[in-house]
Amino acid sequence: MPSRRQFVMSILPTTATIVFGVRFANAQVARIEESDAAAVALGYKHAAAKVDAKKYPAWAAGRNCANCQLYQAKASEPWGACGALGGKLVNAKGWCVAWVKKAA
Ligand code: SF4
Repeated sequence: MPSRRQFVMSILPTTATIVFGVRFANAQVARIEESDAAAVALGYKHAAAKVDAKKYPAWAAGRNCANCQLYQAKASEPWGACGALGGKLVNAKGWCVAWVKKAA
């Protein structure tokens, strides 16, 4: 029967593989390009200030991804997944026409 130490030492590589594998998978989520077809369709810009306000009258100062209901990260994080753009990462300072005010 293996000792407790032998057991811990035997599962260590597996545990490390799982932990680093998950981190690697998260790091693989792509940042969306403004040229992405879905981004173009929604008028997404990495910087909300660059939004064409005439073309997108729904845009207003202060609206950005960080305060959008579909931003799947803490508002303080610079990039987060977006539910409207296939889970790709969007800039916290970005904006698109699908913006919905984050619930308080
Ligand atoms: Fe940003 Fe919200 Fe548009 Fe996604 S839906 S790009 S989080 S404004």
